[in-house]
Amino acid sequence: MKNKTAPLTSYVPAGASHVRRTGSRYTLRRWSVRHAGLLEKVYNIFAEVFLKLHWLWNLIGYSRVERPIVFAEKAVKGFMFDCRMCGQCTLSETGMSCPMNCPKGLRNGPCGGVRADGNCEIEPDMPCVWVEAWKGSRLMQAGGNIHIVQGPVDFSLRGTSAWLSVTARTAAERDAARQAAKEQEQ
Ligand code: SF4
Repeated sequence: MKNKTAPLTSYVPAGASHVRRTGSRYTLRRWSVRHAGLLEKVYNIFAEVFLKLHWLWNLIGYSRVERPIVFAEKAVKGFMFDCRMCGQCTLSETGMSCPMNCPKGLRNGPCGGVRADGNCEIEPDMPCVWVEAWKGSRLMQAGGNIHIVQGPVDFSLRGTSAWLSVTARTAAERDAARQAAKEQEQ
């Protein structure tokens, strides 16, 4: 009987591999990880500017500005990081590699299934987002933050702006610290 699995010839088509798609699909997100140090600096400046505009967001109303900000955030982060708009961004802790691209949805990784080539066990053509996260974190000043254990995702925040949430939270913390300092002086 003929063995159906035996190769008929020694011919192997060029480029044949377990990888289904070309790696170009991940070019931009990999670029972002390779430039995590630069992006960290840019983001810190951006976050500072956003915080300085807290009075303006307050004046207009956070809920009113949310729609256009979400639109801009989705466009920028979708382009650079394949962002899924989870609303609780961890890019600063995860080497500029978005954990929501992990097919297992791991916010703390990697799992035990990373392939020998550093790719994902579920999507063999995709570089493991956690291997990428580690690489990116090595380029960042606050790279040690990758050791912070991330809490579970709050799916009620999906589709909201992480930029605005961080700004509002930081402003509230800053105001509370100022108030406490004032009370101590009195
Ligand atoms: S962690 Fe969330 S907000 Fe940040 S890039 Fe990923 S999906 Fe977008």
